[in-house]
Amino acid sequence: MIKAIKNYLKKKVIHLYENRVGTYFFKQKGYCPCCDNKVSFVAKNPWLRDYFLCNSCNSIPRERALMHTIEITYPQWRDLAIHESSPGERGHSLKLKEEGKNYLESQYFLGNKKGDVVNGIAHIDLEDQSFDDQSFDLVITSDVMEHIYEPDKAFKEIYRTLKPGGAHIFSVPIINKHKPTQRWANKGLDGLPEFLFEPEWHGNPVDEKGSPVTMHWGFDIVDFITQHTGAECNIEYINDLSLGIQAEYIEIIVQRKPLHEKS
Ligand SMILES: [Zn+2]
Repeated sequence: MIKAIKNYLKKKVIHLYENRVGTYFFKQKGYCPCCDNKVSFVAKNPWLRDYFLCNSCNSIPRERALMHTIEITYPQWRDLAIHESSPGERGHSLKLKEEGKNYLESQYFLGNKKGDVVNGIAHIDLEDQSFDDQSFDLVITSDVMEHIYEPDKAFKEIYRTLKPGGAHIFSVPIINKHKPTQRWANKGLDGLPEFLFEPEWHGNPVDEKGSPVTMHWGFDIVDFITQHTGAECNIEYINDLSLGIQAEYIEIIVQRKPLHEKS
């Protein structure tokens, strides 16, 4: 009986939530870190993570959080060697591409091999990269690290390509929060994901099938990275409406290579 009431209330709440979509409207004036303009941030859907848009450049909160973090940790970023894996075509990616003097983008093109270049863009598997050691000051990824089958290899490889004093700055949904990280899928022998739980896919601009979610990260992601790479890690959580940075799951992680290796 109690279960039936609970279920009824749960449905009612979901229904109320869904009904808000379409009538929901939120607007905030502020300054956009991605397009460097005084703008309005507007949401017509309460899921701010994907719908709280800059009215000038269409960026979303995690892109603004990433750009703001780059700006405050490496204000000289325009002069640095930057590798961005799987960039989008707006937000921080566009800004880094347009204003960075030494910016290199890569994509993971399914079915290609190490060293391939597709339409002028390097095919890079983050787990096994063709870059030399210490090639970059900054490596940028944005909602990529939840799609990697062997994240320990990817974090190690990224770290290897960083110059001393450099950093991998990235967004990743930490959906497990204080619960331990869970592996969500393994790579099957046919290269397709074998999900351990409910299959989950996210949109991928270079693959219409999407990208399988392989990890549900918790805040212990920083321990995972430090354990596998020796990097110094911290999580930046920004909640600043004046920068249009407010939403669920927009933590930015900084995986830093010390200037002097500990001996
Ligand atoms: Zn903007």
